[in-house]
Amino acid sequence: ISHVQLSEPMKLPPGTSLHTFQTFIDRVIQCCGAENVSIISKCDKLVDGHYMNPCKGHDMHAIYDRDYFLASAVICPRDVPEVQMLMRLCNEFEVPAWPFSIGRNTGYGGAAPRVSGSVCLDLGRHMNRVLDVNVEGAFALVEPGVTFFDLHEYLEEHDLRKHVWLDVPDLGGGSIIGNAVERGVGYTPYGDHWMMHCGLEIVLPNGELVRTGMGALPDPTIPAAEGLRPDQQPGNRCWQLFNYGFGPYNDGIFTQSSLGIVVKMGIWLMPNPGGYQAYMITLPRDNDLAAAMDIIRPLRMQMVLQNVPTLRHILLDAAVHGPKSSYTAKSEPLDDADLDEIAKKLDLGRWNFYGAVYGPEPIRSVLLSVIKTSFLSIPGSRFFLPEDRHEPNSVLRTRANTLQGIPSVDELKWVDWLPNGAHLFFSPITKISGADAEAQYAITKKRCTEAGLDFIGTFVVGMREMHHIVCIVFDREDPKSRTKAHWLIRTLVDDCAKHGWGEYRTHLALMDQIANTYNFNDGAQMKLNEQIKNALDPKGILAPGKNGIWPKGYNKATWVI
Ligand code: ADP
Repeated sequence: ISHVQLSEPMKLPPGTSLHTFQTFIDRVIQCCGAENVSIISKCDKLVDGHYMNPCKGHDMHAIYDRDYFLASAVICPRDVPEVQMLMRLCNEFEVPAWPFSIGRNTGYGGAAPRVSGSVCLDLGRHMNRVLDVNVEGAFALVEPGVTFFDLHEYLEEHDLRKHVWLDVPDLGGGSIIGNAVERGVGYTPYGDHWMMHCGLEIVLPNGELVRTGMGALPDPTIPAAEGLRPDQQPGNRCWQLFNYGFGPYNDGIFTQSSLGIVVKMGIWLMPNPGGYQAYMITLPRDNDLAAAMDIIRPLRMQMVLQNVPTLRHILLDAAVHGPKSSYTAKSEPLDDADLDEIAKKLDLGRWNFYGAVYGPEPIRSVLLSVIKTSFLSIPGSRFFLPEDRHEPNSVLRTRANTLQGIPSVDELKWVDWLPNGAHLFFSPITKISGADAEAQYAITKKRCTEAGLDFIGTFVVGMREMHHIVCIVFDREDPKSRTKAHWLIRTLVDDCAKHGWGEYRTHLALMDQIANTYNFNDGAQMKLNEQIKNALDPKGILAPGKNGIWPKGYNKATWVI
C-alpha cells in the first residue's frame, strides 16, 4: 500500500485535528485504495462543472459561497464490504460521512454535505451495476450508480422495452436510488418512485448489513447462496415482489434520512401498456388554473388520467425555448402583457397541461375523449398531439418521451433563463383543488415579484395531491441575485406554513427551517426522529443535520440555519 503525501483539506471535519484526519484518511486509503480518495485541499479551486460532469464535494448551484457546504474529501468505495468498513472507520474517528449515489441532486444541494468537512461517499462511481431486470415480475434490482439513462440504455440494449418501461424524472442523469430515497417523482403511471420501490439492502451506521421486506428471509433453495458474502447472496424470490415482509415496515425510515446507506434497491417497472399517446392542452388565461384543477382532481382520482400529468406555467416552457433576454430587454419580472405576448409567440397557453394515455387503441380513444371533453369546457383551450408541433425544442415532443420513460436532458435549458443560471426548487404539497392551487400560486407569485424574480412553476399531479414545483432561477455569479433567491425561498417556507402547506423535499440550506414547520404537538415527530437517530447512530456519523435531524453530539442551537 503506497502512502501518499496527504494535503490539508480546505475544511476539516468538525472537532477533528489535522493529524487525526490524516490518520483517518490513511486507514481509508488502506480500505479503498488511494485512487479512490480525493481530498479537497486548501489550494484547490472549487469548480462547479456542469450537469453532465458535476462537481462532487460542493453544490454547483450554491446559494451561499461555494465553500459553505463543502466536503473534506470524496471517497469512492468499490463494494459493499468497503462501505461497511467506512462506517466503522467513521465511528472510530468520529468523522461525519455524507453518502450520495451520483451527487447531481440538482436544486436540492448537489453533492454537498450539510456539515462542512464531512467526507462524501460517492457510491455510484464503482457500484453501478444493473443486477437484474426481471420481465416476468416487471422489476429491476440496481446499485447506487445506476442512472435513469443507464437503466434505459440497458432496456434498449437487451431489447426489453417491448416488455417493460422505466419511469424517469425530467432529467435522466440522476440515480434511481438517490431519486427514490429522496421521494422524487416521474410522470408515467409509475411516477411515485418511492411507492414503486420494492426491497432495500442497507448498510447501517454501525456497518451492519440489512435486507428489508422479503429480503430478510434467506432462500436456501438457491444453491449459489452457499459460501457467498451476505451482499452477494441472491435475494429471496419475493424480495422485489412484496414490500412489507414481516414485522414493522422498515423501509420508510431510510428515505430523506441519515439512518442508513442504500446499496441495493428493487424498483418496479411498468409492463409495456401496448400503446401510448402523449398530448398537451393549452389554457389561455391566468385564472384558468382554478377551473383546470377542479377538472383534474376527479379525473386523476378515477385514473382516467392514468399518469402523473403536469400543469406548467408559460414561463417554464418559454425558458426551455430561450433565455429571458431572447424575449425582452426587461430585467424586472414580466407582467401579464409580457406573458400574453410570449404565449402568443410560442403558440402556447398561459398554462399548459401535459398528459398521456396508455393502452391499446380502444382504451386510449375512450380515455382521450373524456379528457378532451372535460378540458375543452374551458373557453379557448386547445388540444395538441406531438405531431402538431413543429417548433425546435418542442416541450410536447420532449414530454412525449419523458411520459413513456425515455430520459433526456432537454429540460436543463430553463436554468439558463438568467445569465449564469442556477436554481433552487421550492416544492410545497397542495390539495388538487382550484381554491388551493389559486391561493398557493397567488402567494408564491407575489413573493417572486417582490424578490424581483419571475414566477416559473409547475403543478405535478400525484394520486391525491400535487407537488407544486417553483423553479427559483438566479445568477450564481451575482451575490445580489443569490441573496434574492435565498430571501424568496425562506419567506415562502414561512408563508406557506401559515396556510398549512409544507414542502416535500428541500435544499440543504432550508432543511432546519422546514423541519421546524412540521411541529405538531410540540415537535413530537422531531423527538421521535432524534430518538431513532441516536439509537442507530450514537456517534452521529451518518449525514448529521440531514432534513433537520441533529445527532445528540451536535449542539443544535449552533448548527441550525
Ligand atoms: P442524484 O441521483 O440526483 O444524483 P444524489 O445521488 O445526490 O442524487 O442523492 C440525493 C440525496 O439522496 C443525497 O444527498 C443523499 O442524502 C441521498 N442518497 C442518495 N443515495 C443514497 C444512498 N445510496 N443511500 C442513502 N442515501 C442516499
